[in-house]
Order: sequence, then C-alpha cells, then structure tokens
Amino acid sequence: MSSKPVSVAVIGASHAGLGVSHKLLRQAPKASITLIDPSDEYYFNIATPRFLVKPQSLPSNKYLYDIRESFIEYPSGSLNFVKGLVTRIDYSNKSVLVTTNENSIKNDVISVAFDYLVIASGSTTPATLGQGSLKLPFKATAFEDTRKAISEAQKKLQNATRLVIGGAGPLGVELAGELAEASGSPKVITLVSKTGSLLEGATDTVQRTAESILRRKNVEILKNVTVDEVNEDTEKKSWTVKLSTGQTITADEYISTTGVIPNNQFIPKSFLNDEGWVNVDEQLRVVEGKTSRSDTYAVGDITCHPYRLLSRVSIQAATVASNIAASIKKDTRIAKYSAEAQRKMMVVPVGQSTGTGHFGGWTLLGCLVWFFKGKDFLTYEAPKFLRGKVER
Ligand SMILES: Cc1cc2nc3c(=O)[nH]c(=O)nc-3n(C[C@H](O)[C@H](O)[C@H](O)COP(=O)(O)OP(=O)(O)OC[C@H]3O[C@@H](n4cnc5c(N)ncnc54)[C@H](O)[C@@H]3O)c2cc1C
Repeated sequence: MSSKPVSVAVIGASHAGLGVSHKLLRQAPKASITLIDPSDEYYFNIATPRFLVKPQSLPSNKYLYDIRESFIEYPSGSLNFVKGLVTRIDYSNKSVLVTTNENSIKNDVISVAFDYLVIASGSTTPATLGQGSLKLPFKATAFEDTRKAISEAQKKLQNATRLVIGGAGPLGVELAGELAEASGSPKVITLVSKTGSLLEGATDTVQRTAESILRRKNVEILKNVTVDEVNEDTEKKSWTVKLSTGQTITADEYISTTGVIPNNQFIPKSFLNDEGWVNVDEQLRVVEGKTSRSDTYAVGDITCHPYRLLSRVSIQAATVASNIAASIKKDTRIAKYSAEAQRKMMVVPVGQSTGTGHFGGWTLLGCLVWFFKGKDFLTYEAPKFLRGKVER
C-alpha cells in the first residue's frame, strides 16, 4: 500500500471549512490538508449583534481565534494553512491559484495541488461590503483587518442616535433589541419589515412575541413597507431612506440586514445554480450539469441548500469528511445529507435578558432563549466550532 498522503484543499476557514478539516484529520490520517483563507483568525460572526453594539459585553478573544493554533494536536505536516484568496480552480492540473497579497503582483500567487477539493467559501452580506448600508462586519472581508472593521463599526453605532434597520429577519430583530439597550444617549430606532410580521417563517406566537418585546423597548416597527432607496450623504454624515409609503426618514445610519451574496467569484459557472450557489448532490459532491464530481465537495452557505445557517454546517461538514475519508480508504459506505431531515429552529435574543424562538413546534420561553443564546450570543460554542467538535 502506498504511503503517499492524499492532498485535500479546503477553500474557506470559517465554520464549515474548519469543521471539515478537523473531522477529516480525525478520520483519515493519510490526508494532508491545505486550508486556505484570507484571514488567519476564525471569526465567530454569530455574536456580531451583541459586540458591535455593546463592545464591553464580549472581549475579542470570545469571537476571534487563531486558526493555526486549533490544529496543533495533529502530526506536523498534516495541516498547512495558507493565508490567501483563491482566485481560480484549474482542473487541467488539479490545483487552485491563491493570491497571498491583496495588491497582487505575480510573485504573490501560489498554486496548491489537490486530489480532493472542498469549497467552503460561504457568503457575505450587503452590510459587510457597505453596499447601500452602514458597513458592519457581519462576516469577515477578504484581506481586511477584521479588528479594525469591528472597532470602526462599534464607534459609528455608538455615535448614532437615529437609526433605520431594513429587514426584520432574525438579524434585524436581534440588532434592534441590542441597539434599544445600548448605553449612552437614547437611540430612535425604526425597523422596516416588508411583510405583515417580523421573523418571516417563524410561528405566529414567535412573531408576535418579538414584536411586542421590541415595541416595549420603544422600537418603531413598520410592516408591509419596503425600503425603496437609500442615499448616504458623506459630508453631512447622514442617510436618507425612502420608503414605499412615500415617507422619507433622515437617519444617522441605515443598516441593511437583508440578503446573502455567494462568495463564488472563483468557482466555475458550470457548478452554479441560477442564483450563484453551488449545486450539490446528497453526498455533498459538486454537481456539474447532471454529473456529480468525485473529486470536489461543497459545504455550508455556498451550497444550493437554502437554509444558510450555522446550525446546519456541522452535519454537512461531517458528511463531507466521512465521504472523503471513505473514498481515501476505498470504503464503499457513503454518508448522505438531507436538509429536510434537520429540525427547523430559530432562537432570537431580543436584548440581553429575553427573546423568542422555536425548536421544531415548541415555542421557547424568553428565559430559555437567554440561557441558550442571549447571555453571550453562543460564544461558549465558538471553541467547539473552531475545532470541529460540534456533532449536531
Ligand atoms: C450577522 C449574522 C448572524 C448570524 N447568526 C446566526 C445564528 O444565530 N444561527 C445560525 O444558525 N446562523 C446564523 N448566521 C448564519 C451563519 O453565519 C452562516 O450560516 C455561516 O457563517 C456559514 O458558514 P460557512 O463556513 O459556510 O461560510 P462563511 O462563514 O461565510 O465563511 C466563508 C469563509 O470563506 C472565506 N472565503 C471566501 N471566499 C474565499 C476565497 N476565494 N478563497 C479563500 N477563502 C475564501 C471567507 O473569508 C470566510 O472565512 C448568521 C449570519 C450573519 C451574517
């Protein structure tokens, strides 16, 4: 039997890419992994509504972690971390091209060969990019200093007294709840929902509870209203927000909490569906046309599975790791992922001490939401996600 290691390139070192890498190293000691990401820090973005609004509530070591350190338990050489951005996948010689410097010149591009490729490049948001919104680091941004982006965002949120939030999904509701409790001068907050309720997709009870908690915190809620146009006046440092009702609000900050954008610039178009997400089969192998590739997998937000949630990442990562490990060992057993089989849940803190949500058909009381998420925005789970130790 050959002892040559099998090379696996993993693109993206956030929740999904880290999950696959750790789980695979534990199952397939012959695998040699190259993990690629423009940042060498794992960013637990889930807690952003809390620490962007209340900087003192969570120290940065609760949401930023050294990626390399999380791999010290494995034999040396089994994991190689490359700080860079993948710009192309080249199947003619089974390699990916990685830019290791933002202002790339030729010498800063390296090639990483692979036997297996895992695409875990995830998604971003309009606010992360500052597209028609105050720029808020809801996700990491390629080559940008995340700590600097966090500190700038914290200052802007602290100074703003009139804010409009466009989008009343979990993020919009969580953010409104945190802003309503922020220290300093009181803030006037408007939350705009395009539907007749908050938290689309949640049960009626959960929707009504979220609304009543926010109203008690004096958040203005506009329902069945869309944000038609936003303009930033950089000199006056203000935003004008035009609503479908004809009303125009002038605010210190406008925050978009709608939409996710696939990080797919380097992915062959033949892998993507009409919305730009990667087509996968039930083994999470990438599907090109009607054929599943045996050398390429995708996991996490970048896949075509519509629920783009952290709570879905670990099982997907376990599926991919098991299937690559089985393929390396020439084991015919395969693992399958079913989005439908995962129980639907939503846990939404609304401020520090309460919130709402459901687990399957069970409504969660405010004290349970506080216990599971509200007290520290799940940061107690971050070390487990960093080390691929979440199994559900
Ligand atoms: C503010 C916010 C709060 C959220 N809260 C919750 C919650 O409470 N519960 C929940 O279940 N879900 C939540 N989510 C969703 C959750 O964040 C995502 O489902 C999760 O981040 C998906 O993880 P991922 O690893 O697939 O992708 P991402 O986290 O998007 O990570 C992708 C990684 O790939 C890297 N990358 C991208 N392109 C390249 C490239 N070309 N080369 C190399 N690396 C690249 C990126 O820099 C990034 O590190 C929230 C999302 C947001 C924005």
